[in-house]
Amino acid sequence: MRKEVLVIGGGATGAGVVRDLALRGADCVLLEMGDYCHGASGGNHGLLHSGGRYAVKDPSSARECAEENSTLRRIAPFCIEDTGGLFASLPGDDPEFGDRFERACRETGVPVEELSAQEALAEEPGLSTDVTRCYRVPDGSVDPFALVQANVDDARANGATVLNHCRVTGMEVDGGRVVRVDYVNNRNGESGHVFPELMVNTAGAWAPQVAKMAGVHLAMGLDQGSMLVADGRHCRHVVNRLRPPSNGDIAVPNHTSTILGTTSRPASSPEDSGVSEADQGLLLREASRMLPGLRTVRVIRSYGGVRPLLGGGGREASRSFAVLRDEGAENMLTVSGGKLTTYRLMAEKVSDQACRVLGIRAACRTASEPLGPPAEGGGMSIAESRLTRKYGWRSRDIDTGDARVICSCEQVLRSEVVHALGGEDVLTMADVMRRTRAGMGYCQGMDCSLGVLELMVRSKGVDPRQTLLEFLSEREKGLELASGDQLRQELLRRHVFQGVYRLGGGA
Ligand SMILES: Cc1cc2nc3c(=O)[nH]c(=O)nc-3n(C[C@H](O)[C@H](O)[C@H](O)COP(=O)(O)OP(=O)(O)OC[C@H]3O[C@@H](n4cnc5c(N)ncnc54)[C@H](O)[C@@H]3O)c2cc1C
Repeated sequence: MRKEVLVIGGGATGAGVVRDLALRGADCVLLEMGDYCHGASGGNHGLLHSGGRYAVKDPSSARECAEENSTLRRIAPFCIEDTGGLFASLPGDDPEFGDRFERACRETGVPVEELSAQEALAEEPGLSTDVTRCYRVPDGSVDPFALVQANVDDARANGATVLNHCRVTGMEVDGGRVVRVDYVNNRNGESGHVFPELMVNTAGAWAPQVAKMAGVHLAMGLDQGSMLVADGRHCRHVVNRLRPPSNGDIAVPNHTSTILGTTSRPASSPEDSGVSEADQGLLLREASRMLPGLRTVRVIRSYGGVRPLLGGGGREASRSFAVLRDEGAENMLTVSGGKLTTYRLMAEKVSDQACRVLGIRAACRTASEPLGPPAEGGGMSIAESRLTRKYGWRSRDIDTGDARVICSCEQVLRSEVVHALGGEDVLTMADVMRRTRAGMGYCQGMDCSLGVLELMVRSKGVDPRQTLLEFLSEREKGLELASGDQLRQELLRRHVFQGVYRLGGGA
């Protein structure tokens, strides 16, 4: 296919770029090798940063986060929970850090307000009574899967072609320009080619691999971070430790769970996201110092993500971003670094450059155009209003007349799964899970997988055994460190699938 722009990578940045360019009238295509959010966009805390976390050490990132925080609340309210955030210090933390934090927040435009220990405990009853200082900031909780899907849907509505499960495998470079890009479509095993005028490399931690296909060397640090999913919501706010960014200092309430994060270590590859037992112990220990109720919490699963960092790796590297262009492949722009919170701004900057190259004069509209029309309100049933909160305007296509629940942990309706299966992007049970949350709860799919499978077989004609085994082994990845009640649950799940249904392999 011949296109003005090819975007490689369907995380938040790529989805943001293809939407931005489509809104400006560019003819573009996006190729993603897995499902959307296969990379760091699906392996993060889902924290909508206020900027507070970076105010002291990385003021330009803090400014970017502060600005984008309010933009995203405006354009994508359906995938954001306005939890607010607290930064709390404990005995042993530097007592002066609070003053530096407050000053830096004011200098970088992060709204900040100091609370007394008493006020903090009234706002967040689960907080440790040892709290010494506390500040309130406008952190929030964001669902990255819903955010990225909304960008994809809007890009398509504006004429873009967006294909997941399509891996870019090679390129032909002629006279310093990429003239042909080869890809394999995992939907049907067929290969294809794109002949782009311009290419945008938004492959995150894989960006150096994509650049290498064009003969360009890209120096980038890779840094792994681990997170835990704790069963239930253990805080009303995002709770951060008031100290320089360090291991185990964030707890984010997210849907039916609390995400505890994170750590930082060099990663050997973009796939190096495994979580060690030591990291799991550290995250639980540190988080329960801030929120003592977490000491006995049930950890549903662990997962990791890999950050591509400019200027090397580790906590010292900036969380800001850059758009890079190399004369070895002059029609390739690479965007690297940044945050989920700043994906739209990154997309705007790279799209501005792309439009200059292509001679497109239209200005960026993504800061003001909502991601889809506003959802209708008034006269809704409880099911309708819950789905509107979860999917925004897209909920209008879900049949709420069928109130059967398919996933009891996450209270997902059968009709939500039917609706997700109607999408051309959905090829696997994990694709259904990312769009509906069916299988994300504490039983990790024991309860709902057969129900989802039945619907998938009916609508997509998939091989039931292979599809189920693939899903079960995907879920198993985050359960290696399960203990206590979660281990009992996992043993029951294995017994049901291996012992009762006689499924081997990943089950
Ligand atoms: C541990 C951790 C915690 C974080 N927490 C937060 C947080 O709470 N809040 C926040 O704002 N930010 C957070 N971040 C940062 C945020 O997740 C990332 O900045 C953001 O998701 C990056 O998005 P991206 O689209 O640039 O990259 P990615 O999401 O990694 O997307 C790159 C995509 O390119 C695709 N790809 C690669 N090679 C190919 C190929 N050959 N062909 C086709 N496709 C290809 C990949 O499959 C992938 O989907 C966190 C990051 C980590 C690692």
